Amino acid sequence: MTAQIKSLLLDTRLPRLEVRMLLEHVLAKPRAWLLAHDTDPLAPDVAAAYEALAQRRLAGEPMAYLLGQREFMGHAFRVTPDVLIPRPDTEVLVETALECVAGQSAPAVLDLGTGSGAIAISIALARRDARVMASDVSAAALAVAAGNAWELTASVRFVEGSWYDAVPAGEGFDLIVSNPPYVASDDPHLGQGDVRFEPRGALTDGADGLEDLRRIVAGAHRHLKPGAALWMEHGWDQAEAVRGLLAAAGFADVHSRRDLAGIERISGGRWPGRG
Ligand code: GLN
Repeated sequence: MTAQIKSLLLDTRLPRLEVRMLLEHVLAKPRAWLLAHDTDPLAPDVAAAYEALAQRRLAGEPMAYLLGQREFMGHAFRVTPDVLIPRPDTEVLVETALECVAGQSAPAVLDLGTGSGAIAISIALARRDARVMASDVSAAALAVAAGNAWELTASVRFVEGSWYDAVPAGEGFDLIVSNPPYVASDDPHLGQGDVRFEPRGALTDGADGLEDLRRIVAGAHRHLKPGAALWMEHGWDQAEAVRGLLAAAGFADVHSRRDLAGIERISGGRWPGRG
C-alpha cells in the first residue's frame, strides 16, 4: 500500500500545529485542502522535503525561518536569518506610534534598525500619508525589508548605516521609533530557543543591553521636531533605566507601556524643543 499524506500528519516528533504548518508549506496548500486530501498518495519528493524541514525544526531552527515568513500587525512579512523574527510584543510599539501621529497629516516617521521592516511598513500601511524612513546597518536586512515593502505595497525610504549615521543631516521627524538590540551580551537567554538562530547583532549590543538605547536617546534631539515623540522597545527589566535616560536628556511626558504579557516593554517621551 502506498503511503498517504495522512501518515505525515501523524508525525509525533513535533507539535501537531507545526507538523501541519510544515506540510502546508511543502505542499503549498492551505489547511482546508490538507484536511480534504489527507488520503491522497504521498509523493516521495513531498515526503523528503517534509522530512528535511522536520529535521531542521528538531534541531531548533525557528518555524518563521523554515516557513520564510511571520505575521505581524496582520501582514505577512518575509523573514530570513538576516533579520530578527517580528514578535507580537512589538505590536504595542506600532500601536503607540500610530496614536502619536493620529492628529497630524503627512507625519514624518523614522524607524531605526528596521530589520525585516515590520515596524516601518506597518506604520506606512496604516498611514498612507506618512513619510516613513527606515534605517539598518545591515545591507542584507535592508534587502529583506525592501522586499517586504514591495510585496506589501508600502512606501518607505530605506537608508543604510548605524543609527543616526544613516539619516541625512537636517532631516527632522514627528516621531522616531526603534526596536534596537537590548539583550545584555552575557544573558543566558541568547543561548536558548529561537534566538540562537537570529542575528546576534539584532539581539544584543555586545554590552549591558542599554548601549544602543543610550545612543538612540542621545542623538534624537538632532532629528526631532519640537513636540515630536521618541518611543523605543526594551527588555523586561529596562523600563526604569530607559525612562531615566529620556528624562535626563530633557524629554517630557516620559512613560512606559506594557506588552501583551503585562511587562513594561516600551518607553518614550516628547521632545519639548529648545527656545
Ligand atoms: N525580544 C527579543 C528577545 O527577547 C529581543 C529583541 C531585541 O533585542 N530587540 O528575544
